[in-house]
Amino acid sequence: MINKNRILITTPIYYVNDKPHIGHAYTTLAADVLARFFRTQGKEVFFLTGTDEHGSKIAESAEKMGKSPKQLCNENSQLYKEAWRNLNVKYDYFTRTTDKKHEKAVKKFVEQLKEKGAIYERNYEGLYCIGCEKFLISQELINGLCLYHKAKPQKISEKNYFFQLKNYLKKVEKAIINNKLEIQPFSAKQEVLGLFKQNLDDFSISRQKERVKWGIEVSFDNEQTIYVWIDALVNYISAIGYGNNIKEFKKWWDDSYVIHLLGRDILKFHAIYWPAMLIAGGIKLPDREFIHGFFTINNQKMSKTLGNVIDPNKLVDKFGADAARYLLLSQFPFGSDGNIQEAKFEEQYNSNLANGLGNLIERTFALLRKYNYKAHPLKSATKEFENNFKKHEEEYYYCMNNLDLFKALENAFSLTREIDKYINKKKPWSIPLDKSKEINTILTNLLSGLSKIVVFLEPFIPSKLDLVKKRINEGDFSKINLFPRIVK
Ligand SMILES: [Zn+2]
Repeated sequence: MINKNRILITTPIYYVNDKPHIGHAYTTLAADVLARFFRTQGKEVFFLTGTDEHGSKIAESAEKMGKSPKQLCNENSQLYKEAWRNLNVKYDYFTRTTDKKHEKAVKKFVEQLKEKGAIYERNYEGLYCIGCEKFLISQELINGLCLYHKAKPQKISEKNYFFQLKNYLKKVEKAIINNKLEIQPFSAKQEVLGLFKQNLDDFSISRQKERVKWGIEVSFDNEQTIYVWIDALVNYISAIGYGNNIKEFKKWWDDSYVIHLLGRDILKFHAIYWPAMLIAGGIKLPDREFIHGFFTINNQKMSKTLGNVIDPNKLVDKFGADAARYLLLSQFPFGSDGNIQEAKFEEQYNSNLANGLGNLIERTFALLRKYNYKAHPLKSATKEFENNFKKHEEEYYYCMNNLDLFKALENAFSLTREIDKYINKKKPWSIPLDKSKEINTILTNLLSGLSKIVVFLEPFIPSKLDLVKKRINEGDFSKINLFPRIVK
């Protein structure tokens, strides 16, 4: 239950070593849809996204390209901004971990942990994976290679600062069990609770600067930089004023309902490390973390080597922003793992948007035109008509409030099919013109039903449905042709 009038909704910040792909687009679109929806519900919303820009991998890539790391970050963070603009994503703030404001906040956060006695120095010897930018634990090694990068880690010994994770694990676990920090969906919650049964160790929150130069310096030790993951997680609070503007921070963190959206691969950092550090720093926990599943593309893992990475900009070029948004979010339930079949996009576009929604709007407009229907003032539908669709309406709101975008979409589209059936059943064109009252009632019902669909789908398909809304308000029912069929 979202029990506050203010909502902070975040995506993970994306690593600038990557280019935006549909995995990033999926999470960001979900956040955008929710932000738009909650605004229509009268909530005050802050939608935060951005880019993660520190770490030796970025410094290495920049060097290979003959650029400074900052230059590479500037260029690549721009790619994300462009992709979000193309997809009509309306975030409130785009944060970058190389922003001065963020760097200051990260330093302050680590100082705060130190003041609370939650960090200590320790000599550490272990197997370090440059790809992961961390020391690997035995479960992360297969035949001596990093599980994620299939690369041989280096044996390294160094002094680091460590966070006393162990001291906070019980509290984090309890917060998750009693839903003070709600982990959704249930499978993700179970996965997190399973992690507490493993022997979770304190973790290092700094690196020796000679190894990771491109990072934020530890303010009380100029030979160390802050571990990129700590740096990245702090974005959720630095962007809204932590360490900089106490009033704003209180408004958007303490007095807000905080929702983090994230992928399963970064669950441990968000559901264990981040809450533990917040507790240590005396900062409130986020209220909810929603974890979406892994993607496959045409049943294969998305990867550059396989060449199956889908560029969201290309989808926009082909289908337009509204349709691209719909196509991405309607593939599989939000929260489950799923497979995207690129070849099916065209078919889905034609059947659900061109023939489904687009055709219903066209058909309704044609009838309103034919009978010269006056939409002013908008009249309410008959009770009988409304009752037919109550179930879908209730389901829709229930799903949206529970962040179940896939099912919410399904309900909205079921409604379009129901209204199509209503037209076919009533056949207003077969009613003699002297029964104009009967015809009028049908048209009023139709317009009311269509208006509902517009409200339901506007967060997903904002531009085109905004146009429909305007047309309805102006009583202009001329041809609209929202989703032209794609012909091969
Ligand atoms: Zn690795």
